[in-house]
Amino acid sequence: MSTLMATQTLQHRIGGMIDETPAERYADVTDPVTGRVIAAVPRGSAGDVDRAVAAAAGAFPAWRDSSLTRRSQVMFAFRDLVFRHQRDLAALIVSDHGKTFNDALGGVARGLEVIDYACGIPTHLMGGFSESVSTGVDTTSWRQPLGVVACVTPFNFPVMVPMWMYPIALACGNAVVLKPSSDTPMAIPMQADLLAQAGLPKGVFNVVFGGRETVQRLLEHPDVSAVSFVGSTEVGQTVYETGTRFGKRVGAYTGAKNHMVVLPDADMELAADSAVSAGYGSAGERCMAIAVVVAVGDAADRLLPMIIQRITQLRVGDGMDDGVDMGPLYSAAHRDKVAAYIATGVEEGATLLVDGRELRLPRYPDGFFLGPTLFDHVTPDMTIYRDEIFGPVLCVARVDTYTQATALINGNRWANGTAIFTNDGGVARRFQTEIQVGMVGVNVPIPVPVGYFPFGGWRQSMFGDTDMKGAEGVHFFTRVKTVTSRWPDPSLRGVNLGFPQNT
Ligand code: NAD
Repeated sequence: MSTLMATQTLQHRIGGMIDETPAERYADVTDPVTGRVIAAVPRGSAGDVDRAVAAAAGAFPAWRDSSLTRRSQVMFAFRDLVFRHQRDLAALIVSDHGKTFNDALGGVARGLEVIDYACGIPTHLMGGFSESVSTGVDTTSWRQPLGVVACVTPFNFPVMVPMWMYPIALACGNAVVLKPSSDTPMAIPMQADLLAQAGLPKGVFNVVFGGRETVQRLLEHPDVSAVSFVGSTEVGQTVYETGTRFGKRVGAYTGAKNHMVVLPDADMELAADSAVSAGYGSAGERCMAIAVVVAVGDAADRLLPMIIQRITQLRVGDGMDDGVDMGPLYSAAHRDKVAAYIATGVEEGATLLVDGRELRLPRYPDGFFLGPTLFDHVTPDMTIYRDEIFGPVLCVARVDTYTQATALINGNRWANGTAIFTNDGGVARRFQTEIQVGMVGVNVPIPVPVGYFPFGGWRQSMFGDTDMKGAEGVHFFTRVKTVTSRWPDPSLRGVNLGFPQNT
């Protein structure tokens, strides 16, 4: 990128200390615009996890016992710091991910929404109380923290997705071990530093980098109570199965293939804007990106020229430059994988209308770029329909009726997000009811719920019982205790051998 920072060494943050990992255990971090190495990140080991969990377990009792007011104050201070540093965080996201600066800033804003929610933790943790469930007996239900919880996060949102987890986990009184993606680690240390500046005690929040080995150890570790995971379906399913086998609470939020239905009566200009924004934003590297436009009846014939016209105006380049709409993919390997999918789409008979492989950016010969790509006449048997591509490839599938469109979506293995574009309120309402997908948009292409609403998919887009964020997040990171109490009252004394009566 143009504002290339000096190569730096990232380190684990364990127990408030910077863990010195031996030099040979570092992996390169690259700038996807230039392909140059900008930093080195620890590969992480089971030993690093053990140290982080020990630090968290040591810090947990005091943090759990701290008052709700204190935890809320730390969250307010953290919110203020993140707000003031949002542009720094966004620039760090761009440096290793490659998305545009405004998009990265938007991701930080969506994280801030969850911190806002966590600031209200005294209200969210209010329990139930029944006075006199029996004579002189009261019952209360409490929500208590779980202990040490792990957050395992993907490459595509290095601020937003961790913030969908750890602010609520911390505010509930847990100690956290965050295991972020090592592919996009640049914005992680600043989050740990800002939490420390906000007054979070040492050891309550810890960061361990690494991959399979570190996650496996977190899943096995006897002192880890819960694991919140976001990433691919294959890994997420394994994380869920392994973690639950070891007795942990696990929420795994995974892959997607999101469909956008366009009915013939839709506002086609709005639908075209939305398909392009949701298909190519962040180079398609979003779990809520639109991957398939399901065009009903003659909608495709009117929509496609509008989509093509918009694609030709998209500017691809360095995400830090003004006016750039789309950056590179995050790695060379991923760019090559997506390009291979385009070749497979052609081989299997889809109609390639715009070929992103033709993009040439002489300024960035070593960048991981791929232009926006558009396929028509995609059918459910094709690889480009069946697999999650996670790149700037939009597929158009044509169907004759609304019923065929919903059957296609309900038959897909994933069910994260979906949208319908129509001006018919009755059909839209029917869609909301009938569609078997976790998050639904009506004339909204990416229906990511705001911070205080839950986020979660259905079918193979989620393994577990609880969504992320909002009240569901509080439920995930706490467990209920119900206390029934009676205090001696001289007027109620006396032996009674009968079964207690509710009188
Ligand atoms: P990934 O599954 O490769 O990695 C996710 C996390 O798991 C990372 O921290 C990684 O280091 C770790 N990991 C990787 N391989 C592992 C293994 N074998 N065992 C244990 N841990 C392992 O995912 P990614 O490529 O970083 O992210 C893209 C995926 O995430 C896409 O499938 C996307 O749809 C999904 N995603 C889902 C959501 C959601 O909320 N549903 C949000 C964002 C991304």
